[in-house]
Amino acid sequence: MSTFKAPKGTYDLIPPYSAKYLAVRDAISAPLRKAGYGYIETPGFEDVNLFARGVGESTDIVTKEMFTLTTKGGTNLALRPEGTASVLRAALEASLHKKGNLPVKLWYSGSYYRYERPQAGRYRHFSQVGAEAIGAEDPALDAELIILADQAYRTLGLRDFRILLNSLGDKECRPVYREALQAFLRGLDLDEETVRRAEINPLRVLDDKRAEVQKQLVGAPMLRDYLCDACKAYHEEVRALITAAGVAFEDDEKLVRGLDYYTRTTFEFVHGGLGSQSAVGGGGRYDGLSEMIGGPALPSVGWALGVDRTVLALEAEGVELDIPAATSVFAVALGEAKPVLFGLVTELRKAGVAADISYGGKGLKGAMKDANRSGARFAVIAGDRDLAEGVVQLKDMESGEQSAVALAEVVEVLRAKLA
Ligand code: AMP
Repeated sequence: MSTFKAPKGTYDLIPPYSAKYLAVRDAISAPLRKAGYGYIETPGFEDVNLFARGVGESTDIVTKEMFTLTTKGGTNLALRPEGTASVLRAALEASLHKKGNLPVKLWYSGSYYRYERPQAGRYRHFSQVGAEAIGAEDPALDAELIILADQAYRTLGLRDFRILLNSLGDKECRPVYREALQAFLRGLDLDEETVRRAEINPLRVLDDKRAEVQKQLVGAPMLRDYLCDACKAYHEEVRALITAAGVAFEDDEKLVRGLDYYTRTTFEFVHGGLGSQSAVGGGGRYDGLSEMIGGPALPSVGWALGVDRTVLALEAEGVELDIPAATSVFAVALGEAKPVLFGLVTELRKAGVAADISYGGKGLKGAMKDANRSGARFAVIAGDRDLAEGVVQLKDMESGEQSAVALAEVVEVLRAKLA
């Protein structure tokens, strides 16, 4: 073992387990790719102020959770804690909103970093696949994203998840509600930290899990009673479109998201098998964010699904993903046959067949062990005598049957058998 370990709150993805992560990323992005979302990649770090914007309600939360660094030139950077701000920054920088039809639809996949207290399902480095639809206010877009996430989870085989849905109002009705809620919270008996939170981000207090807080929240003003007519109508349409698509959801009027740029539609995907870190994904509309980072008004909506927690959720449900063996054909060279079989493996790979060969000068027994371990469907075995006859031995690793096949034909034979 090395004297070094993965840093606190992080872990390595090791084969064969790591294949699950690739499969999950693929499954989440597949519906997006078929729905007009283009792939975007942004740097792993950004100007710290992109995330910690001015005096937003959530500035303190975001700042506390960031990994920050100062370059030798004195620039303050932060490892990205989330994808939305980076993607919007990149879209604005490239003027994507001026180049084509709106919305600009983008998807991404990558690593995110949060300085959190590590626990099961909560890490300092984790991965997300996300989607953003920038520059259009249309309930069908909010519905599309929720439906695509639902489709991704279902394709993976997840069943025990719920979709929680709420509307956070807009810049007209939300501030009125915020004040009413603050007035209510000021009359309660809360600890110092919670009093502070009530002043910065009162909606978050509704989310407090502690019984002594929840008890006092009975009778708190609810956002639903403050939504303006436009927000109400918008939300009803989102609900109707999701319902028409056959996607089940629950109205959760206490659902708020940590970040202050969210407006109107807000949703979360929660899974029953994950304990306290039950959110596998979440998102919502963020109509004000573009202006907050110096751009024009670009109403937008998006989500991010956590890959790590999705894998945990699959395990909790006992779902086995259908991951094909990495190797289909394994070559075992005896005597002086290595160069020929090495050439054959190269040919197979070029022909699109996943092939591998035993390395390190092993004998038959050791090389066959390698073949077994590889999970390959077929082994190609050859020694000097086979090659002198222009053949190789083709072994079906499932049935154990073995037969001689002409060396010149083996690529075609294997391609046909594996098709
Ligand atoms: P959020 O931006 O906080 O809504 O995160 C979206 C999703 O990313 C969550 O639902 C989780 O699945 C995942 N996620 C967020 N933070 C972490 C973390 N610290 N560790 C693992 N997954 C996370």
